[in-house]
Amino acid sequence: MTPFDLMRGTAPLLVSFPHVGTGIPDDIAARLTSAALARPDTDWHLPRLYDFVRDLGASTLVAHHSRYVIDLNRPPEDTNLYPGHDTTGLVPIDTFRKEPLYRDALPDAEEIAARRESYWRPYHAALDAELARIRSTHGVAVLWDAHSIASVLPRFFEGKLPDLNLGTVHGASCAPDLQAGIEAVLRAQRGYTWVANGRFTGGYITRRYGRPSDGVHALQLEMCQCTYMDESPPFEFRDDLAAGVRPILRKLLEAVLNWTAARRV
Ligand SMILES: [Zn+2]
Repeated sequence: MTPFDLMRGTAPLLVSFPHVGTGIPDDIAARLTSAALARPDTDWHLPRLYDFVRDLGASTLVAHHSRYVIDLNRPPEDTNLYPGHDTTGLVPIDTFRKEPLYRDALPDAEEIAARRESYWRPYHAALDAELARIRSTHGVAVLWDAHSIASVLPRFFEGKLPDLNLGTVHGASCAPDLQAGIEAVLRAQRGYTWVANGRFTGGYITRRYGRPSDGVHALQLEMCQCTYMDESPPFEFRDDLAAGVRPILRKLLEAVLNWTAARRV
């Protein structure tokens, strides 16, 4: 299994899906618990939910492996992404509900390093190269890092998460008027709760690649999974729910492209 699927588009927009993979190599799977093999922390079905982005001309980068193999949205040296908060690491050892992933021995430093080379580096090399290509073609590149999560996870946050969580590293990862355009779309809709730079301010990908002064702008959208799917196994996609939120996602990405178009006039 290749680590990812990259489809190049024609617009100055790359949509990254780092947590949608479910692939687990056989030698790793053989050591995992049944809780792990259910892959409950996958950002399920996001490419299907975002099925319109190719029509917008966006490039897409879709990870193939589970975040339990390695987490592509964590720094390679595995420092805590959210100091002061409990968080899962580069190579997680438990689920979001603190169920152990491994039946026996945990991955050692050598195994973690090997996974970093096999899965983490190729994804980031592709991300880096595609953003560079887009920026040199269009003069500007926007990275939209697409995520989803169970709406209630006491380990990470109290109560229910807002439906739509925009993260721009408190404004550092994109131009202020781009963020304002996205917030205007969120403010104009009535169906979903939202917050900008609340609990989820942007993970490693948003922080690393968002360099507005270099013409690369990054935004993360962390969505509650209850907006488009069943949050309990077998984690079915819900067309009836998706029909409500998909048009909002489309408006958000159209607002991105309107912003890039205005810059080029
Ligand atoms: Zn995610």
